[in-house]
Amino acid sequence: MQPDTPIGKAFRLTGSQPKALKRLGINTVRDLLFHFPSRYTTVEDIKFVEELEVGDHAILYGTIEKLEAKKTWRKKMTMAEGRFSDDTGTIQVVWFNQPYIAKMLHSGTLVKLEGKVQERKEKLYISNPEFEKVAGVPQKVGDSLWGESGEEWSFPVYPETSGITSKWMWHAIKKAFSKGILDELEDPLPEKLREEYNLPPLKTSLIWIHTPEKMRDAETARKRFSFEEIFYIQLSKQQSRRALEEDGAEVISDAKESMNEFETFLPFSFTSAQRKVVDEIIEDISTPPAMSRLVEGDVGSGKTAVAAATAYAAAHAGFQCAYMAPTSILANQHALSFAEYFKDTGISIALLTASTANVYTPTHLEMEKEALIEYVEQGRVDILIGTHALIQKHVKFKNLALALIDEQHRFGVRQRKKLAGKGELPHLLSLTATPIPRTLALTLYGDLDISVINELPPGRKYPETHLVLPSKREGVYEAVRKELEEGRQLYVICPRINEPDPRKETALYMKSVEAETERLQKKVFSKYTIEMLHGRMKSEEKDEIMKRFSNGEIDILVSTSVIEVGVSVANATQIIIEGAERFGLAQLHQLRGRVMRSTHQPHCYLFTNSDSEHTLRRLKALQKSANGFELAEQDLLERGPGELSGLRQSGISDVAMEALKNLKMVEAARTEARRIIESDPNLEDHPQLQKHLETYVKEVHFE
Ligand code: ADP
Ligand code: MG
Repeated sequence: MQPDTPIGKAFRLTGSQPKALKRLGINTVRDLLFHFPSRYTTVEDIKFVEELEVGDHAILYGTIEKLEAKKTWRKKMTMAEGRFSDDTGTIQVVWFNQPYIAKMLHSGTLVKLEGKVQERKEKLYISNPEFEKVAGVPQKVGDSLWGESGEEWSFPVYPETSGITSKWMWHAIKKAFSKGILDELEDPLPEKLREEYNLPPLKTSLIWIHTPEKMRDAETARKRFSFEEIFYIQLSKQQSRRALEEDGAEVISDAKESMNEFETFLPFSFTSAQRKVVDEIIEDISTPPAMSRLVEGDVGSGKTAVAAATAYAAAHAGFQCAYMAPTSILANQHALSFAEYFKDTGISIALLTASTANVYTPTHLEMEKEALIEYVEQGRVDILIGTHALIQKHVKFKNLALALIDEQHRFGVRQRKKLAGKGELPHLLSLTATPIPRTLALTLYGDLDISVINELPPGRKYPETHLVLPSKREGVYEAVRKELEEGRQLYVICPRINEPDPRKETALYMKSVEAETERLQKKVFSKYTIEMLHGRMKSEEKDEIMKRFSNGEIDILVSTSVIEVGVSVANATQIIIEGAERFGLAQLHQLRGRVMRSTHQPHCYLFTNSDSEHTLRRLKALQKSANGFELAEQDLLERGPGELSGLRQSGISDVAMEALKNLKMVEAARTEARRIIESDPNLEDHPQLQKHLETYVKEVHFE
């Protein structure tokens, strides 16, 4: 048996096992060894018959009695049926389709059972449990020892999948161990590094993670594997960064003077948080390696103004700038903001989307797309704002030196590269209103420098956030009506677009944009103009609705949450969020950020039908904290990194996912990766690492 031996050759597989293994991505013995348990069962998990409840996943120790092969009376399905007893009681056990089990377990056999507790005609039974004959009951089971630590007695539970059992995994792995497989594996982690962070060698770690004698060993092994994976991610990020730094970039001359001058054109001065970022950017673009920086800042914190100042510096030095946004609504909005900021500068700004080609300054012109594209190529446009339209092949720049990207996680790596490819190594500035926890930022954006704007412009009012129970709905509508009466506008956010089946239970409590628009129009706000907006509409339609909402022609906009995080309509001062329990804290925070744009007191109403204590506690956190980063950290702890970042789909393992909650570990992995890449960029002196990194990068993909 070798690490690369196909799993089907190493073990005799039966029934659904080959398929199940394939589904788990286990093709070779190596894959099996690196398929880790998701948890360990300890004595604490063992239950007694007396305490069982429907739906429990139970582990029981006791004896089997009167097991017989039978047929079910209705469907004539074969089965083995009998009873299972421990010191506290007796319960029925059934194995459907497996009558032969009756022959395997005689009355009085001591077994460990693991399976789901079900109910039929008010009687509990266990169906198709996994079973194992045992010599004795784990010592510490017995009434005297419940509640004490049972750590010395644990067995692994592998991520669930139908067709393969944890027991099978465990036995297969033990067999592989006994055949000496561990001696065939080399440890890719440099020894020095392992020593520095007290990480066990590969061999020990595999033994500890699959067959631990102590919980602490299993944890130490997990720590090693999570460090290792985060370390690969960091190595790959640091390599991309290094590649960027090797080539020079256009230095933007007089950046400092230009950006300071730009501030004098603004009707306000930068907040100190903006100022700090501006200074960092000045440093970046005035020196040879190209800037690659991400600016994170809450909605309304003034990122656009910072982006504009940077664009001004580039334009002033005679270069072009491209600003790409993920949707036409956002692109439109940025174009309007820029047009306002640049109106007295003589710098020419244009907008290019699938449906629009406009020049804004110095004079407003609606153009044919082809004509605008020609303008850009000739260098007659200084700052081109747009959507994906900017990266079309025929869009060419004369001298692009700055690429701005809004909400960069909404673009793929390839799209970002394409934009950068329109110039010779342009400086790159990404902006995001999505506050993410530091561990995730360092991982996902490990190749970027990160700046944070953690302060709002003065005088900005945070929305008052209200948690509303169903019985108080009318009262909220009353309050909202008063504001509408004064000419202010309202957003209503629903968890989804429509409910194809109105009879479904979910239709009752999970509001949809379509149904809610109709209901509000007919029954609640009949006097007002209501429109809906959602992702399945054409972008021209969306633009049109957004324009009318900005103009005040629409009073109430009903939409899903996926629409435009950065949308800004100052007169919209109220937001109702239906089914609030379905959203993450950071996302809710972002949604309420939409009504933070005016000096009038805004309100955010969170509707929920949930009475779960956990949900209410989460939503109350939102009432207390106005800080998006704080809320994102909280989301990380509660919902896990996978949910937050789209990393679920990336192929990152669960073990590494856990580690993304651990800032110290992520920082250590980053520091070490930097250190290695600085002295050995292509990992020529670390062949093991290089090999593993190559495989890892193939399997995992960040977008
Ligand atoms: P973001 O892009 O981060 O959502 P914007 O740059 O659009 O934020 O700024 C939000 C609003 O605040 C805009 O109307 C902008 O003109 C204003 N603004 C930005 N910076 C400041 C500042 N330092 N002082 C006062 N108002 C500001
Ligand atoms: Mg630089």
